[in-house]
Amino acid sequence: MPKVSLLFFLLISFVHLSAQTPELRSACKELDQLNTAIINGSVNKQQAAVKFNQLILSIKNTGAISGNDTWVFPLAGYHANAIGGTHGNGYSDKGYKYLDGNKHLAHPAHDIFITDRNQDGLDDRTLKPVNVLAVTDGIVIACTNEWPTASALRGGKYIWIYHPQLNMLTYYAHNKAIFVEPGDVVKQGQRIAEVGRTGYNAYKKRSPTHLHFSAFHFINGLPAPFNCYQNLVKAQAL
Ligand SMILES: [Zn+2]
Repeated sequence: MPKVSLLFFLLISFVHLSAQTPELRSACKELDQLNTAIINGSVNKQQAAVKFNQLILSIKNTGAISGNDTWVFPLAGYHANAIGGTHGNGYSDKGYKYLDGNKHLAHPAHDIFITDRNQDGLDDRTLKPVNVLAVTDGIVIACTNEWPTASALRGGKYIWIYHPQLNMLTYYAHNKAIFVEPGDVVKQGQRIAEVGRTGYNAYKKRSPTHLHFSAFHFINGLPAPFNCYQNLVKAQAL
């Protein structure tokens, strides 16, 4: 490697790693545990709300993450015509509350379908798994690579990413496998998971293989979903 590019590589690595401080890692792990407790309904909602807000603020204050508000499409090799419904009408947030955990109402998300008629989790066109990509730069604040088959948990193997510069969260559910952990700083377009069929309903035969994708702003310090259909339509397909 020529000297100049080596120096550049080291500089980029340093900038990337410097964002991943031990404080950031531990705040994200704490938020991950809180999110699990919320999903399981094993935490007082009022206390959970206060704690969630505190942790997000501490994560926000830990470092510089850029955030491009033009997204990358979250499924490699696909674009907006793979979104279920018509013009994004699969999205419905009426009655949704983050603190309701696994028992929440509505579908504040877009389901993005891959070509997988035999439901083996591989793309029928390539016979390979489909990569799930971070839509923009961010920090992984919660995720799980555990989903016991037929468990009642709906999200399956999911990932939550916080995008501090945009004050936004994104959520990727039903993955086959995930490649990140809480505290990881991810770049726009980075492979974070493979599409799968994990989750109580996604596992069932009647459900075509898809990524369940949501975006959230904050209202009173808690995640509040918004319809990101236009962001997905304008997103760059990789
Ligand atoms: Zn869905």
